[in-house]
Amino acid sequence: MSTNVIHGKTIAEWKKEYPILSEMTDLKEVFWTNPKHNTSGEAPSLTMEDVIDAEKRLARFAPYIAKVFPETAKDHGIIESPLFHIPKMQERLEGFYQTELPGNLFLKGDSHLPISGSIKARGGIYEILKYAEELAINNNMLTLEDDYSILAEPKCKEFFSGYSIAVGSTGNLGLSIGIMSAKLGFNVYVHMSADAKQWKKDLLREKGVVVVEHASDFSEAVAQGRKQADEDPNMYFVDDESSESLFLGYAVAAIRLKKQLEDKNVKVDKEHPLFVYLPCGVGGGPGGVTFGLKQIFGDHVHCFFIEPTHSPCMLLGLVTELHDEVSVQEFGIDNKTEADGLAVGRPSAFIGKTIENKLSGICTVEDEKLFTYLALLATEEEIYLEPSALAGFASYVQLFKSQAGKAYLNKNELEQNLQAGTHIVWGTGGSMVPENEMKRYYERGKQTI
Ligand SMILES: *Cc1c(COP(=O)(O)O)cnc(C)c1O
Repeated sequence: MSTNVIHGKTIAEWKKEYPILSEMTDLKEVFWTNPKHNTSGEAPSLTMEDVIDAEKRLARFAPYIAKVFPETAKDHGIIESPLFHIPKMQERLEGFYQTELPGNLFLKGDSHLPISGSIKARGGIYEILKYAEELAINNNMLTLEDDYSILAEPKCKEFFSGYSIAVGSTGNLGLSIGIMSAKLGFNVYVHMSADAKQWKKDLLREKGVVVVEHASDFSEAVAQGRKQADEDPNMYFVDDESSESLFLGYAVAAIRLKKQLEDKNVKVDKEHPLFVYLPCGVGGGPGGVTFGLKQIFGDHVHCFFIEPTHSPCMLLGLVTELHDEVSVQEFGIDNKTEADGLAVGRPSAFIGKTIENKLSGICTVEDEKLFTYLALLATEEEIYLEPSALAGFASYVQLFKSQAGKAYLNKNELEQNLQAGTHIVWGTGGSMVPENEMKRYYERGKQTI
């Protein structure tokens, strides 16, 4: 293995230059703080105006969403998740890990997002709506001033049925894209990686989605979807590795969170720092949210990503600065994890470069801990998340427990304001997991607490 040459250096040479790589290939948990955090970097191609534009588009679609997904009617067709205050979980974690965890702990419940029960209901649905709007406007089916609920009429569904959508996914993106596209009337092809759970494939097939199963990992499933769409001019490909639309759909979460924090009288400023912990797969979800939050809160928000020890693709891409030109497999890491939403071996270069100077750090977590957090959260707060969605708790604890975490707090002069700080663990999915499956997860975690 170590005789392999990656971009002109052997693995041994890479490890000598970046010692953290040795810990990563040993599958150890690490807490990496980003040396480029708050450096000037390149001006991003996207701005806050793009995020606001995305929010307005979602508002235009709200009457349609409320009509076709009745569960969203109470929120007038706005797809948003609750922000849960979870003090019991905080106290339990303090005891469990014998670490003081000052400040207030919240869970952003994207697990409870309507329609597809994960963070993908932000980016994935947004991208399909944007594509549908473009098609409908260009073909004189719709104007910006219309009530978009007309899109539920049979003639619109008939029109969309002349077009197809393709996507590659480890599961949750496929659910979002599949459910939304099928509802509008599109033909949908979801290319699933080997990690995808059976129930996700079954559910999509029930909704009339064509599920194409691959024995390979995420990157290959994406490549197959891209190939299929390239061959058909009426097929649109949702590119999880480089889509700006997905990214902006995720970023809208920041505007919504700002309002939720205000409603709860939670301040964010120099004396009241905000810490946000985001599970990372290819990077679009956590990257988009980070981008939006940094636009709104600037230096007062500190965003950390978390990846499984077996799939630390974004960390590898940032440390080596090779981004998507390197995969964890090339470093002998297998990309096999129970956290199916995070089972990605090669990161998005677009995301890595966009958040390079905004991200505070990345922490890795062993799979087994995800089940521990699952059982603790279920016991203390009666909230059930899927394994991927619990990863944020690892970074929250390690910020206070690890040497690197403590050094980050010290370097950024955060220590004196920690009591007034706010911590948000982004709970990225879980409400759609079938009950028997969730029970198995819970039993597995229960044995560890
Ligand atoms: C997709 C997903 C993530 C990560 O999003 P990426 O855009 O792949 O980085 C996190 N948690 C869950 C549950 C997911 O489905």
